[in-house]
Amino acid sequence: MAKAIESLQLSPAEPVRGLAVPAETVLAGSEPGVPGKRHVRPPRHLADLDLAERRAAVAELGQPGYRADQLSRHYFARLTDDPADMTDLPAGVRAELGGALLPPLLTAQRELECDGGTTRKTLWRAVDGAFVESVLMRYPDRVTMCVSSQAGCGMDCPFCATGQAGLTRNLSTAEIVTQVFAGARAMAAGAVPGLPGRSGGPGRSGGPGRSGGPGRSGGPGRVSNVVFMGMGEPLANYRSVLAAVRRITDPAPAGLGISQRSVTVSTVGLVPAIRKLAAEDLSVRLAVSLHAPDDELRDELVPVNRRWKVAEVLDAAWDYAAATGRRVSIEYAMIRDINDHAWRADRLAGLLAGRLAHVNLIPLNPTPGSKWTASDPAVAAEFLDRLAARGVPVTVRDTRGTQIDGACGQLAASTVPARAEPDRRASVTDRRPSRGHDR
Ligand code: SF4
Repeated sequence: MAKAIESLQLSPAEPVRGLAVPAETVLAGSEPGVPGKRHVRPPRHLADLDLAERRAAVAELGQPGYRADQLSRHYFARLTDDPADMTDLPAGVRAELGGALLPPLLTAQRELECDGGTTRKTLWRAVDGAFVESVLMRYPDRVTMCVSSQAGCGMDCPFCATGQAGLTRNLSTAEIVTQVFAGARAMAAGAVPGLPGRSGGPGRSGGPGRSGGPGRSGGPGRVSNVVFMGMGEPLANYRSVLAAVRRITDPAPAGLGISQRSVTVSTVGLVPAIRKLAAEDLSVRLAVSLHAPDDELRDELVPVNRRWKVAEVLDAAWDYAAATGRRVSIEYAMIRDINDHAWRADRLAGLLAGRLAHVNLIPLNPTPGSKWTASDPAVAAEFLDRLAARGVPVTVRDTRGTQIDGACGQLAASTVPARAEPDRRASVTDRRPSRGHDR
């Protein structure tokens, strides 16, 4: 369960590198995956490209292919994107390659901390003014980055502020990777404290910028887990998300070298995309945001259910589990008097018993002005007990960050008015449950 807030700080905005690029300097183009809309396309970035594409891009600039490997080692292994630090490159080459392949993509507009600084939520502004959020959570045994895959969302779930605002655009691969990169760099720099009162050694050593594995140390560490549970429906931005997964998990210098088994991709149930993901020969975990065991209620809570019903979604999930050997996470936001009835627990247990699945019950993050609120603790406890009694693995998710506009989309929602009045935190009326900034 969420910890009591220990501090709440608003930090000055800092760009990932340099100043934000004015939107008008970026080439316009139509954004794939958002029919009928025209958006500013983010500039090409090293993290958009695989190693072969990077070598080709460097060759286009008249440089030998090994420069791509040098650049990649700086970015993915040493966690620097500042050409000035790349002293093994000739000075003139540094500026040219940096300008061409390491453009700033996201600028931190606001940073909020709680849980003694171990939970840090960042509101990012993209080059076209779109806002997205990411959350870094340092636990004793792991460090998790929760990332956004889209600016906004087109899935229209009625309890969700992000969904009600609609889809702005898909994020590029590099915009997704940048969120993880920023967390990895903060960890490597020792900028994220460990849990108060805990100290220890530096942990595992993984080379420059990577010493100190996730652990009790408050010193430098590394991001060990990535969850696609921020803004957006990841599988609706399939191509960019898949490439981001590869960039995040490929060993350096191709990528950040985080284990595939420590990456979770969530979905509301886009069945063809689940099946496609199952065929990718990856071992990432799939999380299905189910929220209801019956089509009648799920049609309302998760409108995409009108296209792919509960049975179809779960069939695809079980096929994913069979293909990957990975247990599927079933996400279930506990909403008072909406989906927390005992009979629904029994119905859910009937669907999941004997399957390679684990249920995460997510206490709804209550927000002002919303008719949706969290289940009564006793009701939630009975719901859990009924699942457990049928042998279904189930836990209540630690919803870190709920004190800092923790449900994904709340900080972005509060920033729309805040753009006119940057020093004032606008009140938030958000109907989205926490998607569980965890694991
Ligand atoms: S709950 Fe998730 S899938 Fe539904 S609208 Fe919100 S962000 Fe999109």
